[in-house]
Amino acid sequence: MAKEVLIEIEHLSKSFPGGTEVLKDISLEIHKGDIVAIIGPSGTGKSTLLRCLNYLTVPSEGKIRIGECTVDAKSHTKEEVYALRRKSSMVFQQFNLFKNKTALENVMEALTKVQKMPKAEAEEISKHLLEQVGMGDRMDFYPSKLSGGQQQRVGIARALAVNPEVILFDEPTSALDPEWVKEVLATIQEVAKEGRTMLIVTHEISFARQVANRILFMEEGKIQVDAPPEEFFSDTKQERLQQFLSFVR
Ligand code: ADP
Ligand code: MG
Repeated sequence: MAKEVLIEIEHLSKSFPGGTEVLKDISLEIHKGDIVAIIGPSGTGKSTLLRCLNYLTVPSEGKIRIGECTVDAKSHTKEEVYALRRKSSMVFQQFNLFKNKTALENVMEALTKVQKMPKAEAEEISKHLLEQVGMGDRMDFYPSKLSGGQQQRVGIARALAVNPEVILFDEPTSALDPEWVKEVLATIQEVAKEGRTMLIVTHEISFARQVANRILFMEEGKIQVDAPPEEFFSDTKQERLQQFLSFVR
């Protein structure tokens, strides 16, 4: 049986006020369980694409569907946007943890505040997730007492807490000192094994090759190459891609 199309992007465009078009008529289908790496030069719209998927950025045109939730840029309700947002969670480059909350409180936040889950239950889920990302011994630490790699692992536990169908990673290791990159990539790889659908914007090319079943090369607001890793890296006809790869490798 063919795999279910979980995410459907139709004719997505985005222009910022007074700016040029950042996303140019992107259409894309992503299957349930796909691990999609997105690479490409900076300023080409990778973050904007991820942010449109949860309406942190409102598209100018086009439709986005995740599961049974569809949002049309031209006509939608707040409820539709909230429903779409609940389908995914995002791991940010800068972690975006609450500085005045412990690791555990950071992970619990979405469960108690947004989902109104009883505290004891939220705590149990959050502790379990922190253990899963190897942070079981630092649950009561504030972000300032954690390394970048540890903060990002808390960020990943937080993203998992709401049990989203899709996880969006926006350059999860770009803000880290080199010594912490490996542990965060290993954590993402562990999460990937659970069969959750993931989109990962990254400059870690060898990681993308290992973890993803599909790689997209984005440039100037368009998806220029979309292929499984083996094909992607042997596509020598794509001059711009080869040029990009020779820069980042
Ligand atoms: P990438 O993630 O590939 O580096 P982005 O999606 O962050 O690229 O940005 C693509 C383009 O959109 C850039 O030229 C950037 O300056 C512009 N851009 C991004 N966010 C905004 C915004 N909120 N307002 C205006 N321009 C923006
Ligand atoms: Mg970006």
